[in-house]
Amino acid sequence: MSVELPSPLLWLLTLLLGLCLGSFMNVVITRVPVMLMRRWRAEARAALELPAEETSTFNLLTPSSMCPRCEYPITWRDKLPLVGYVLCRGRCAQCQTRISPQYPLIELAGAGLTVAVVAIHGASLASLMLIGVCLALLALAVIDFRTQLLPDAITLPLLWAGLGYHLWFQPLWLANAVIGAMAGYLVLWGFYWLFKLLTGKEGMGYGDFKLLAALGAWLGWPFLPLLLILSAGLGAIIGLTMQFAMPRLRGMPIPFGPFLAMAGWIAILFDSHLMSLYQGLLL
Ligand SMILES: [Zn+2]
Repeated sequence: MSVELPSPLLWLLTLLLGLCLGSFMNVVITRVPVMLMRRWRAEARAALELPAEETSTFNLLTPSSMCPRCEYPITWRDKLPLVGYVLCRGRCAQCQTRISPQYPLIELAGAGLTVAVVAIHGASLASLMLIGVCLALLALAVIDFRTQLLPDAITLPLLWAGLGYHLWFQPLWLANAVIGAMAGYLVLWGFYWLFKLLTGKEGMGYGDFKLLAALGAWLGWPFLPLLLILSAGLGAIIGLTMQFAMPRLRGMPIPFGPFLAMAGWIAILFDSHLMSLYQGLLL
């Protein structure tokens, strides 16, 4: 099913959708790690039989956005994607604290990914699902970069949704997707234990296995070697460049999730081109 709209209107709507989704990803990126920490703290206290702490409600909707320094509520005008940041010149209206450029950058990235999916795959329900994956990968990449966490609350629904996508839209590829999810998890799980047995160190986390399983579900097992080569290549190039350019990062662990997410974007956007290139190399 494809949507037929006059071209300028379609692109305007796509751009607005991308900016709004990017804005929502900012909420996910900043709040989900805090929600997880609060839950783990509550569980740890319960396990230690300590009295529960008094805490206020904190989720994706409550409390409404405020300045992290002076807690001045952010008005609806300043919440408008990109426009809000430009109107308030990147500062809190009350205390003039600088607002992180992460917010407009994530909104721009959301818009860029949304426009790219529609430009390459057309405007359809299937494309809407692909936009959802690309934005979930954006949230996961930034959360992993900032906190070294890949929350199950995002990776696991992404995996199940990938299997559902093939069941509805590409049933012929469903078996490849199921094998992709299984193999994606098991390959990294195998690497992890081999590395741990040989060196006694942990090279990556369980979140990475679940993320590759989710990508395997969305793309199918034939893409797994390509995803691993792409993410390892990107990790080596970007990781080394960053450590070279910013000496303070030397010796710090580099999360693998952002590079898996980048490889996922490339594979989702250019799947048919990549597959034919890849088959050309193999045959
Ligand atoms: Zn403020």
